[in-house]
Amino acid sequence: MGAAVIGHRGGEWGSPEKGMAGAGRPTGGADLGEVTIILEKIGRKPYLMQGHLSARALSELGGLVPVPGPVWVDLLATRDGSSLHVAGRLGGRVELVCDRCLQPFARELEVATDREFVAGPEPLHRGGEWEVQDEVVYLEDGTFSLRRMVEEELILALPMRRLCREACAGLCMQCGADHNLGACGCSPPDRDTPFAVLKNLGSIDP
Ligand SMILES: [Zn+2]
Ligand SMILES: [Zn+2]
Repeated sequence: MGAAVIGHRGGEWGSPEKGMAGAGRPTGGADLGEVTIILEKIGRKPYLMQGHLSARALSELGGLVPVPGPVWVDLLATRDGSSLHVAGRLGGRVELVCDRCLQPFARELEVATDREFVAGPEPLHRGGEWEVQDEVVYLEDGTFSLRRMVEEELILALPMRRLCREACAGLCMQCGADHNLGACGCSPPDRDTPFAVLKNLGSIDP
């Protein structure tokens, strides 16, 4: 990746402004939170995006999942016809809430990505058939935003099942105590079956 350049100037295809200072994960390198690329102006040189997005640039995913620290990126953008091809890796720490015990916990995400960005609206119908192209992203305003891409990639990488640990014991269904901290003394709940009702009726008798 020797021909790569760093930095950006108002969304123009970049030329070097400053060298890399301590590039790498997780927090080194340039702050790339404001990098945008106007697709019309893509140059022929590959464009290396190696650095980080500050916590301020990307504080929450979709307004829901906190990102407490910087997110590192190691991506290469290249021209592919009139479109922009972006591939590489990115990652960072997100704060999730455990599905079972409802306690917050941190999780490191690392994503390998490989996408094509095309200027213009998404073609919904073409010849009466739906076009489904997963790896192609249509940019209505013709402008690639690194921050937007990073946010979307991290959202896609969020785990479906969020557990603070595989063996999380969860909360008591009766008193709400956290069973990870010890037993609460509640008796196990009756099974929710028609027979449980019969048993309760029976228990009315002294
Ligand atoms: Zn938990
Ligand atoms: Zn309990």
